[in-house]
Amino acid sequence: VTVMTIDPMPSPNRRASPARPCRLTILGATGSVGTSALDLVKHSPGAFEIVALTAHSQVDQLVAAARTHRAQLAVIGDPAHYRALKAGLAGSGTRAAAGEQALIEAAGEPADCVLAAIIGIAGLAPTLAAVAQGRRVALANKECLVAAGNLFMARVAEAGTELLPVDSEHSAVHQALAGAMPEAIERIVLTASGGPFRTWSLAEMAEATPQSALKHPNWSMGQKICIDSATWMNKGLELIEAFHLFPVTAEQLAVVVHPQSIIHALVEYRDGSVMAQLGAPDMRTPIAYALGWPDRINAPTARLDLIKLGQLTFEAPDEQRFPALALARSAMIRGGAATTVLNGANELAVSAFLNHRIGFLDIARIVEGCLNRAEQIGVVSKPQSLADVLEIDGIARQLARDVIGER
Ligand code: NDP
Ligand code: MG
Repeated sequence: VTVMTIDPMPSPNRRASPARPCRLTILGATGSVGTSALDLVKHSPGAFEIVALTAHSQVDQLVAAARTHRAQLAVIGDPAHYRALKAGLAGSGTRAAAGEQALIEAAGEPADCVLAAIIGIAGLAPTLAAVAQGRRVALANKECLVAAGNLFMARVAEAGTELLPVDSEHSAVHQALAGAMPEAIERIVLTASGGPFRTWSLAEMAEATPQSALKHPNWSMGQKICIDSATWMNKGLELIEAFHLFPVTAEQLAVVVHPQSIIHALVEYRDGSVMAQLGAPDMRTPIAYALGWPDRINAPTARLDLIKLGQLTFEAPDEQRFPALALARSAMIRGGAATTVLNGANELAVSAFLNHRIGFLDIARIVEGCLNRAEQIGVVSKPQSLADVLEIDGIARQLARDVIGER
């Protein structure tokens, strides 16, 4: 009898020796996830040694983090900030580097774990570099799996990389699966807070400003994911993420709205048993799980008080008011290049909304328009390489610019 473990969930085989700190690289160290991770590092003195920290343009914050955590290497993506980085790190012992190639090299530096927390498709090449080196990857960057899921998971399998999800719902699934056999799983249910516009009418959402969309009721997050949460594209991206991470079909993935964000996901088994993971809505818990796995490390988060909470509520998702969820689901089912197009068009539309160039409801309309056009002009085949993914991403962004231009 062969006992299967669920890929990418190998049985715990590499306990971090308490005698040796975990050598950690953080890609996107100045972001919401990156700074939460550094906070955990601060709360576990001696447990981590920082190899490399990266950012895109927040050079002062990168310098401060590199100095505080005595990083070996600090990389700024935008080369315009190289001089400032070098000057800021003078005398610190931290090496400085800049540019896209330097990000890729930083990802491949010898480390026990690489936290992939760059936002968007920009994180794909560095994360793939960490995978190629066989580093354990704690994956926050969901866009990697949306834009390039098949390619990404194939590279993970080839390299024998351990992949730990950081996204709270996927962390919850990973915990609730606990090494179960694929045949045992009936359904995976991701919870959704509903975002800041859960109770808004379409007419109200038509007038929504970036400022109101950035106010998430439960989570504190970077700008792009806040907007994705408001449109519900985030939950769509998460369905696609779950599709690649766990051994289920598209039909076995469901979403339920749960405004309190206490239950993060549920795994339903064929015997009727349901395993859920609960916790305060604080990213430090799933980040700690990924960094500590298979052990547990401290996270200074608020503890769950069920009596104080009183009740947890649930609603069916409303795909009329939030069409992005259905768009993502249909792209996931279509496969091929569809999710690459979905991601690229969405990234461009979100930034256009943040720059006040389009309205809130236009985001999903633009993504839908791009998916249709991409199919008409034959952008359908599955990307086979990083270059293919980046090319399709570029086409999707151009289609989105065209759609915006016509409006
Ligand atoms: P932020 O926008 O807060 O941070 C993004 C990080 O990536 C920053 O360090 C930023 O540097 C860097 N960065 C931005 N653009 C580039 C680029 N072109 N090249 C290299 N680095 C770049 O994002 P979040 O922390 O919110 O999200 C990170 C990832 O984690 C996303 O994929 C998101 O979907 C995922 N995630 C986030 C959650 C959250 O709670 N925030 C929850 C679940 C998943 P700089 O600061 O210099 O601009
Ligand atoms: Mg999430």
